[in-house]
Amino acid sequence: MIPHNQIVFANADKQLLHDVVQSGFFTQGKYVADFEAKAANFYQRKCATAVSSGSMAIRLALILAGVKAGSNVIVPAYSCSAVCNSVLSLGANVIPCDIAEGEANIDVYQAIQLAEQHRANVVIVVNTFGIPADITTLKHAGLTVVEDCSHGFAITADSLPQTYGDFVIQSLYATKLLGAAELGVVLFDDEALLGSAKRLREGYSQIPSGECINMKANEFSGALGVAKLVEATSIIAQRQARANIYLGNKFLSRHVVGNVNHRVWYRFVISVEQADKLIDSVASRVQILRPISPWLNDLNKFPHASTAYRRYLSLPIYPSLEEEDQTEVMSVLDKYLQDTAL
Ligand SMILES: *Cc1c(COP(=O)(O)O)cnc(C)c1O
Repeated sequence: MIPHNQIVFANADKQLLHDVVQSGFFTQGKYVADFEAKAANFYQRKCATAVSSGSMAIRLALILAGVKAGSNVIVPAYSCSAVCNSVLSLGANVIPCDIAEGEANIDVYQAIQLAEQHRANVVIVVNTFGIPADITTLKHAGLTVVEDCSHGFAITADSLPQTYGDFVIQSLYATKLLGAAELGVVLFDDEALLGSAKRLREGYSQIPSGECINMKANEFSGALGVAKLVEATSIIAQRQARANIYLGNKFLSRHVVGNVNHRVWYRFVISVEQADKLIDSVASRVQILRPISPWLNDLNKFPHASTAYRRYLSLPIYPSLEEEDQTEVMSVLDKYLQDTAL
């Protein structure tokens, strides 16, 4: 059976971990600092603060954006529950917003309306599956945008990221686009905030503060983060090559979700009417998954997100996916999509 995802570490990555072992220094130190310098350079942002996870990166970005207990924060209804949970961890309120019809990203016009209605200043935007969201429109409306790049971002012709959020966060959890171990980073340009960002992650404060919680990264994760940033453009190019093969298939190109240009292919997602049936009928040969699980108890108020949870399926597209395995995925799906004319 072809798995949905496969995690591979190169010998060079393992050598870096060995170097950390040899150094005898495992908590936040020079590898974390090197990771921050490389992240700032990769994303072309002035400041980078590494933290222990993507969730902590969102939490820290929200604090820097001025979110407090009782603040309202706009969150896409079709997103990973970690996004919602990071908001709740600050005692702030989640204001869910639908996605645009037939797409994967937040409906920016509804987000602007909800922000007015609920006096929210901050919106979290995910570039879902690696498809760039329309952040510029949100910023023009005066909103502060936390851009979650854990799945990907807009890219230039050279496969370099183009980010638009006031704050950019990246999870480098093992299964993500840049899979290290447990690691996150917050990026921004306002140098006046860097001191607070670094103080808040320490977990020690002169006066008691629930915002200041230990969210430091360690050297093992920092070293793997460095390795992944060095490989990032190659990872993006390998995924692009596999996406191109899928896009050359007439059934898959008809069912693919989202814009196919200037994006990262963290996920290759198709929309089909009978998703459960497809998952089951190919299960012995290919592992196909629903890419995101629902967390809202009033999901029916968000029709486009509901449809996305029901119809969207993610195909294997990892860098180590062999061409013959990808051919197998397409032949299994071709047969199914032809048979049932979905
Ligand atoms: C995984 C993920 C997170 C959470 O990151 P962790 O490192 O697992 O805490 C946040 N946002 C998105 C879009 C994710 O995919």
